[in-house]
Amino acid sequence: MPSESHKERHLSPSPLSAALVTNNDGTPRGTPPPLDDKLIVLFDIDNTLCAFSIYPNGEARADEWRNVLLVADSKEAGIAELMKDKIRAYFRKLGLTEEEAAHLHHEYYKTYGLAIRGLVRHHKVDPLDYDKHCDQALPLETVLKVDPRLQQLLRDIDREKCHVWALTNAYVNHAVRVLKLLGISEFFEGIVSCDYGAGDFSCKPEAEFFQESVEAVSSPPPPLSRLYFVDDSALNIRGANALGWGHCVLFDEAGAEENRLGGLDKMPLDEDKEGPAKEAARVSVISDLEELRHVWREVFKAPPTNGSS
Ligand SMILES: [Mg+2]
Repeated sequence: MPSESHKERHLSPSPLSAALVTNNDGTPRGTPPPLDDKLIVLFDIDNTLCAFSIYPNGEARADEWRNVLLVADSKEAGIAELMKDKIRAYFRKLGLTEEEAAHLHHEYYKTYGLAIRGLVRHHKVDPLDYDKHCDQALPLETVLKVDPRLQQLLRDIDREKCHVWALTNAYVNHAVRVLKLLGISEFFEGIVSCDYGAGDFSCKPEAEFFQESVEAVSSPPPPLSRLYFVDDSALNIRGANALGWGHCVLFDEAGAEENRLGGLDKMPLDEDKEGPAKEAARVSVISDLEELRHVWREVFKAPPTNGSS
């Protein structure tokens, strides 16, 4: 397992390549647009917009991602299982046993936010080679499909008041592919992803990555209180909250991440402030993305439609 010293070294001022900023089709973006008065809404992709516990037959399973990583192989594998197999195979290719692969996969995910960060750091792996054999090798076309409910949720965000971005630890190719297969690319102005091509890149929940993400959306960057961020990882939410990002939401589908928030969802309200600002520092926890309509009421242009829960 990586030691604390690894983490400390990583957080030192040595420059790491951080965010890769693109349009929603993966083409590079130019300089950030001038700051305006809109809110900035940032969605994680894997396991947030894209439920990785979906089976090929379309049924969703309420397993937690970290548990899914550890379950035995199944003929009816969901995406998480398929990805687990690809990643474990990649670890074994490095000469690790199955047991070591399982252990390090879990530890790197917990420590760094994604397995490839640990592989780069400790095994000198080329992230693009990893991406090719893991994320890009997933048969997503046969598993993911357009999600009308998710499309409607994103359509109901008030564009007069908000800019909407995707913020992912994956490489841009994977991000573009997933958004396209879910039929939601058009709802995102841009994608902030990890720069796998840069070698030792940074990612969520590291401060460099979050900082570059904020700098990507406008120049000068927006006030942190205007940020609305949803992610399925408590580690990522804690990282963003620690930097002062307002309105962070943990998407905890299986109820297994909330206890990793360190009480951020119990923070007292800022009684000196009014409206949404009052709750800016408190992390909300949801188990269904539809709940965003309530916890981010000011972001949406209409109240929940009939039939939504
Ligand atoms: Mg995620």
